[in-house]
Amino acid sequence: MKYPHAMNFQALKRGIYEEVQKGNMEIVHADADSITVLDFTKSGDDPKEFTFTNPKTIDVRWLRRHIWIHPSISILLDDIASTLMEMDPNTFITMRHLVILPRLENLQDYIQNMIPTKQVSSLLNTAPLKCRNKNQPIGQLWNHANCAIVYLDNVKKVAAETVHENLGAWKSFHMCTWETIFHELRHLMMDCNPFLPEQDYPVHLASEEAVEAFCEEEYERIFGY
Ligand SMILES: [Zn+2]
Repeated sequence: MKYPHAMNFQALKRGIYEEVQKGNMEIVHADADSITVLDFTKSGDDPKEFTFTNPKTIDVRWLRRHIWIHPSISILLDDIASTLMEMDPNTFITMRHLVILPRLENLQDYIQNMIPTKQVSSLLNTAPLKCRNKNQPIGQLWNHANCAIVYLDNVKKVAAETVHENLGAWKSFHMCTWETIFHELRHLMMDCNPFLPEQDYPVHLASEEAVEAFCEEEYERIFGY
């Protein structure tokens, strides 16, 4: 699979300034390679605050800083970060964090540790929107916070229930974990970047079916099985 080029950050900035002119956005902070905005077009009482990062500056160090793994989980941050480097860099332009938790209850720990105090109250009212398995979510996109979330305990359960005969327990868990990460990151890119170019990423790619197909293809492309 060949990816479109990384988005041009100057063009993206121009798009943001146009929205500022129209009163749809306000700039909170800007430097050479990132720009933080308040977006007033999103529903709810509070505007949505998020940061655009120049995709050309996204490297393994940046990714390490934007992955949050719950302290009770023993997964190597470096393994996750180096695999994410294989993905389309546009995936991460508006990502706050990839959050890896045991269960939904642990979202509190992430919020306490990583969400700035002034944003906590507005974000607490915004439940994660999408999940792959409604009764027992294995992953969710927290749209208002620009976080892709993976619930590892549920991934383990689902992986154990769906172990294929020719796919051992570990591989099944590996596949289920990574497909969930790719799935939620894809939702994040498609749904959380208002300037994503439609000619490169047509709207139909945002559907649940297309996102699910993407994560399976991405797993095969990156891991080769
Ligand atoms: Zn989904």
